[in-house]
Formats: sequence, structure tokens, C-alpha cells
Amino acid sequence: MSAAAGIEKVVIIGSGPAGWTAAIYAARASLDPLVYEGAPSQQMIPGGQLMFTTEVENFPGFPEGIDGKEMMGRFREQAVRFKTRIVTDDIVACDLRQRPFVLTTGEGKTVRTHAVILATGAKAKWLWLENEQRLAQSGGGVSACAVCDGALPAFRNQHVVVVGGGDTAMEEAHYLTKFASKVTVVHRRDSFRASKAMQQRLLASPKVEVAWNSQVTEVYGADFIEGVELTDTVTGARRRVDCKGLFMAIGHEPNTKFLAGQVTTDAAGYIELPSRATTHTNIEGVFAVGDVADKAYRQAVTAAGSGCMGALDCERWLAAQGIH
Ligand code: FAD
Ligand code: NAP
Repeated sequence: MSAAAGIEKVVIIGSGPAGWTAAIYAARASLDPLVYEGAPSQQMIPGGQLMFTTEVENFPGFPEGIDGKEMMGRFREQAVRFKTRIVTDDIVACDLRQRPFVLTTGEGKTVRTHAVILATGAKAKWLWLENEQRLAQSGGGVSACAVCDGALPAFRNQHVVVVGGGDTAMEEAHYLTKFASKVTVVHRRDSFRASKAMQQRLLASPKVEVAWNSQVTEVYGADFIEGVELTDTVTGARRRVDCKGLFMAIGHEPNTKFLAGQVTTDAAGYIELPSRATTHTNIEGVFAVGDVADKAYRQAVTAAGSGCMGALDCERWLAAQGIH
């Protein structure tokens, strides 16, 4: 049967590499997808996390690298080319207990759909210092992803600072020792929460120094970062540390609050997939792709790959329900 009038076959929520790839595949499979690309806000904009970065150097097919915004513009264009319908609004609530599912938009409209692909990503946590945000958005040497940006020429043989004390901070700081002349890890307490093995691997590097009981309270630099102010969390004393790079590694927050617990997540809010070999969630007809279900890889290419998987899983599931 065809989907009944007024009921979508599939709604894709989110517009990063995962959402647009799912849309391209779903549109080419004649599922006539409807994408809610999100409403612009300070923390999220349509196009996803890559809208906050400059050069993307590790996405295959762009040997010279490509600007993050341009790349996401191209993803969107490709989805439009196959007649994807797009609404620039958030999905703020959903009822996944009834069928068809009912989604509520930021403008208060409701949408009924047989299937949903969740591609809402995750947002990096920041300190929300004014200069931190300005330099992060202008490619001024402040980043929330060392694996993405650490190999850029600007950081080679420079002193860089990593903020955080968890496994991500250990991993990112260790990665940066390949390029930087010195890596200072700034942590607000006197012990890391990271696993012992990762701590030991990091601290074995002669390039690494730790600023314990310290918080970054100011970021210096006009066009490119020149240093940070560290405030001692015990004594309150302040000091300046010169550096040519600042990497935030204080955690990520997956965008799953609007699901209100209907889809199974882990304690941090990441969607749990019963099998990593597919994108099916605990609810039949609801699929999760990209960073919202992935705290291990968090890369554009892995998000795009799982977006493809989500559309294929969805197409097969709809066909099994007799919906074409
Ligand atoms: P996202 O890109 O997070 O997109 C999800 C989008 O969905 C949101 O932005 C929002 O617009 C929308 N959305 C969220 N909630 C809702 C809702 N309720 N309703 C409607 N829409 C919603 N990876 C690389 O491979 N290479 C890099 O060079 C690189 N650089 C990076 C630089 C920075 C600064 C950051 C933060 C990340 C970088 N990454 C990089 C990681 C990469 O951006 C992510 O892995 C990728 O964007 C994840 O894609 P996604 O589609 O899962 O989600
Ligand atoms: P996390 O474990 O939540 O650690 C975040 C760190 O940032 C903590 O040390 C925290 O300090 C600090 N922090 C948080 N907010 C801060 C703020 N406002 N100012 C200063 N510091 C702040 O996050 P994560 O390191 O991203 O790890 C997330 C999960 O992924 C964990 O389960 C981790 O084990 C896993 N992971 C695993 C691997 C791996 O095994 N290879 C790699 C990466 C991540 P406090 O310690 O004081 O709270």
C-alpha cells in the first residue's frame, strides 16, 4: 500500500552529515522524505556541528580540504536535488507510542509519520567564554575536536592547551602530542576521572604538562589565540599561559531531550542501538544515525555512513510493513 494521505512515510530529524545522507538515500528510494533541519540557535544550527568549523581535511573526496559550511551546503543541495522536502524548524516533542507516530514542531504543528530517522547529533560542551566562542567560530585556534583540527598547520610545533580530565581529554591530548611542541592539560580538580591506562599513556609523554586545580577563565587573542588565563580553583590565583591552540574536551551532550525517554539511551543520553550492525532502536520504525547514537567515533564520515544505513534499514522496514 502507499502511505495514506496526510501521513509521511519517513521524517528525518536533524541536518548534519547523517541526516542529509539519510535524506539522499531515502529520496532516491522514492520514500519522499521530509527533513526537519532544526531552528537556528546559539548552540545548534541547521547543517550541524560542521557549521561551527572552518577546514574539514579528513572527509574523503576533498583532497584540498573543504570549508565545513560549504560542505554541509553541498550535502543539503544533493538532498534537494532528489526532491527532499525541508522544514527549518525543530521537532520539540514526539509520541512514539501510537502509530503512526506523532511529532510536534517548534511552531506547534503536528506531523504524522510511519517511520522516523533520528539524526539530531550531539553538541560539544564549551566554557561559554566570549573570546572562546568568537575564536572557535572564526577558525582562530579554538576547537572542540582535536582529532578533526589538531593536524592543521597552525598547531604544528606550538604549545597547545587541552581542557578536561576525562578519557576524551586524555585521548585528544595524546593525539596532539604528535604535532604540538608542548601540550598542557588543564583540569579543574587534582585527579583525572579518565581510566588509569589512558592517564598513564598520556603522562608518559615528555611533551605533556598538567595544570591541576585550574580553570580557563579567559581566552586571549584577536584573530588567533595567544594565550589563556588560568584561575586556581583552590586559591583563586590567576596566571597567564601563552599558547597557540585551545581544545575543549569537557564532554558532549547528545540532542535527545525531546524524546522524553521513549527511546532507550545510556546514562549520558546517547541512543542505544540493540545491535551496532543496524540502526534500529528499541522502537520498531524508529532509527538512529550519526553522533546521537555514537560516542565512540563522532566523525563526519561515520555519521554519513550510518545515515546511509538508517535509510536502507528504514526502506526495508517500511517495505516489510507493506508501505512503499
Ligand atoms: P550534527 O552534525 O550534530 O547535526 C545534527 C543537527 O540536527 C543539529 O545541528 C541541528 O541542526 C539538528 N537538530 C538537533 N536537534 C534537533 C531537533 N530536535 N529537531 C530538528 N533538528 C534538530 N568531523 C570530521 O569528520 N572532520 C572534521 O574536521 C570535524 N571537525 C569538527 C569541528 C568541530 C568544531 C566540531 C564540533 C565537530 C567536528 N567534527 C568533525 C565532528 C562532526 O562534526 C560530527 O561527527 C558530525 O557533524 C555528526 O553529524 P550528525 O549528522 O550526527 O549530527
Ligand atoms: P567525561 O567523562 O564526562 O569527562 C568530562 C571532563 O571534563 C571531566 O574531567 C570534567 O571534570 C571536565 N569538565 C566538565 N565540565 C567542565 C567545565 N565546565 N569546566 C572544566 N572542566 C569540565 O567526558 P568524556 O571524557 O568526553 O567521556 C565521555 C564518555 O566517553 C566516558 O564514558 C568515557 O569513558 C568515554 N570515552 C572513552 C574513550 C575510550 O575508551 N577510548 C575515549 C573517549 C571517551 P570533573 O572530572 O571534575 O567532573
